[in-house]
Amino acid sequence: MDVDIVCVGFGPATAGFLSTLSKRLVNEDGTPAVESAVAPGMPPQVLCYERADDIGFGVSGVVTRARALRASFPEIEKAGIPMTAPVCEEKVLYLLDPHGASRRSTTLRLADSFIHAFKFALPFEHYALNLPWTPSFLHKRGGMVLSVGQFMQWVGAQVQSAGTVQIWPGTPVSQALIEKDKVVGVRLLDQGVDKNGQPAGGFTPGMDIYAALTIVGDGPVGPVGQQLNAHFGLPEGHHTRDWAVGMKFVVDLPEDTPLKPGTVLHTFGYPEPEIFGFLYAHPDRVASLGIFVPSWFDSPVRTAYRQLQHWMLHPYLWRYLKGGKLRSWGAKTLGESGRRGEPHLAGDGYARIGEGSGSTNVLTGSGVDEAWATGTLLAEAVLELLKAKKPFTKQNLEETYVKRRRASWLDEEAIVAEKSRDGFQKGVVRGMLGMAIAGLTNGRFTLGGDPVPPWKRIPSIEKYYRGRVSPKEITRLRGECRAKSVSLHAALMDKAGWPAIPFDGQLLVSHQDALLMGGKVQAPPGCADHVVFLYPELCEKCGTKICVEICSGQAITPGETGVPNFDREKCVHCGACLWNCAQPLPYDSERGNIAFRAGPGGLHSAEN
Ligand SMILES: Cc1cc2nc3c(=O)[nH]c(=O)nc-3n(C[C@H](O)[C@H](O)[C@H](O)COP(=O)(O)OP(=O)(O)OC[C@H]3O[C@@H](n4cnc5c(N)ncnc54)[C@H](O)[C@@H]3O)c2cc1C
Ligand code: SF4
Ligand code: SF4
Repeated sequence: MDVDIVCVGFGPATAGFLSTLSKRLVNEDGTPAVESAVAPGMPPQVLCYERADDIGFGVSGVVTRARALRASFPEIEKAGIPMTAPVCEEKVLYLLDPHGASRRSTTLRLADSFIHAFKFALPFEHYALNLPWTPSFLHKRGGMVLSVGQFMQWVGAQVQSAGTVQIWPGTPVSQALIEKDKVVGVRLLDQGVDKNGQPAGGFTPGMDIYAALTIVGDGPVGPVGQQLNAHFGLPEGHHTRDWAVGMKFVVDLPEDTPLKPGTVLHTFGYPEPEIFGFLYAHPDRVASLGIFVPSWFDSPVRTAYRQLQHWMLHPYLWRYLKGGKLRSWGAKTLGESGRRGEPHLAGDGYARIGEGSGSTNVLTGSGVDEAWATGTLLAEAVLELLKAKKPFTKQNLEETYVKRRRASWLDEEAIVAEKSRDGFQKGVVRGMLGMAIAGLTNGRFTLGGDPVPPWKRIPSIEKYYRGRVSPKEITRLRGECRAKSVSLHAALMDKAGWPAIPFDGQLLVSHQDALLMGGKVQAPPGCADHVVFLYPELCEKCGTKICVEICSGQAITPGETGVPNFDREKCVHCGACLWNCAQPLPYDSERGNIAFRAGPGGLHSAEN
């Protein structure tokens, strides 16, 4: 099939692109403002393919300054988008450890003792220090709390009602079609295949869609973005080594909750010092809350689910959450390399937008607005080229899109943020200081630290637990867990002194129950496995098996031969396995032994 423009993924970036473009493809009298090259006399034919089974079925950000969103929708507050509230109160909290089970550096232990000794004089309550001052770059004052799922559904309806673009959910793009270094369109996923991708009953090969311009907005771990990174390489000195997996709950708060809609809490320090947390209150007693497990967290025991439950049970938060109920749950990767992870933004026949194009600002903790802005800048550039009847060549896209990006607030702020978090490579205290210094000096000064991929820095389980759990005990637990085909993290956390989770069937539920109750995770039949262990021999000799320990959905489990098993029906498509493999590829040390390919299904909730 031939179209004019094809888009991969309908996240905030592509939504920004299509919102801007769709309004300007026809004149007020209905005649085309610019003409299609494939359907003469018509406006350009624009298609967008989204992997998830419906629009907004992902996991995404919820507090934003909304600068770019407001530029597109000046009346956004009055649009009646469910779960939206203006930010009314912001707190940054340092959480102390009430159980003594977390791994704290000597500096942090000293800080904790100081806080305990002087708590009578400090803004301290329920084992948490409310930081009396936070720098302005962290604030979202004047911003909004929203559910990106609800927002995306609203935007999707707006975009489609313009009648000039089509969005197709439940339609993963398997790859970009590249001819002599020019992207000429995309290929959709094969249907009716077995788990290895071999034709089975009802085989339908993925359709090829040819387009003059392919827009890649498939997020931080999208397969088409990964393919382009592998094919074209990254610009000199760029890399994508900084990541985090964010896991969140949407909950009904108890009836007597004192949390006002628009309340924003950010935390650090617990359950492990490296883990950041957030709680945002929506209207009608609903809250979004969760944690981020970053790539520089030096623990092989990384599953966010159990860590999230301990975070919720922290006394400062539990007093708000006790009696609450799980509505929805999910997890998603955040690309944290920022500008340093920026790929080639444009080439012959293609342009990159959104988080996969390095737009997320790691200093201000903001990704939605930035992704949206990249989409609107590209739309302006595309309209300029369409009107001038110029082709979508690398040069033309660089002179229009990339030039606009370089001149925007987006790039100005990305430069300030670029090295702001490098300090975390050498510890949390250094990381926090580095962020403050970078923010207060507009990025002129930073605290260094070389970002390295997880496989290079994560120690073996034996080394990490030295002095806490004996190697003999680890071997025993490993055997036990392998026999049950479950990950090791829960058994190790129990041994290391973490209290058991008091399941209540409402909010504190098992990981499996969260998949069904919260994520309503599904996988349609007839598709190949989208998580593939590339070289089984690397898995066989891999001791840490971080892929099993990180998996957000318990979809990767220990396998009998040493090669893990993958169960599509439990996969939430968070993408964390992609960057958490413990073994680099023999020919590319920037990539691990897992391929994260296109696949449908995953979460079925538009509240996240
Ligand atoms: C838990 C969590 C909390 C966050 N909190 C905040 C916050 O408070 N504020 C903030 O500003 N930002 C926040 N962020 C970051 C923000 O969500 C991202 O920066 C933003 O969503 C990036 O938008 P995007 O359009 O580039 O990519 P994405 O939102 O990742 O969208 C990409 C889309 O492409 C689709 N896709 C992927 N592969 C394919 C394929 N092969 N074919 C078709 N479609 C495909 C995906 O399903 C997805 O819908 C948070 C992120 C997480 C994970
Ligand atoms: S995928 Fe990577 S982490 Fe998982 S077992 Fe194989 S080599 Fe180890
Ligand atoms: S297998 Fe699925 S759920 Fe597990 S880490 Fe990979 S993408 Fe996430």
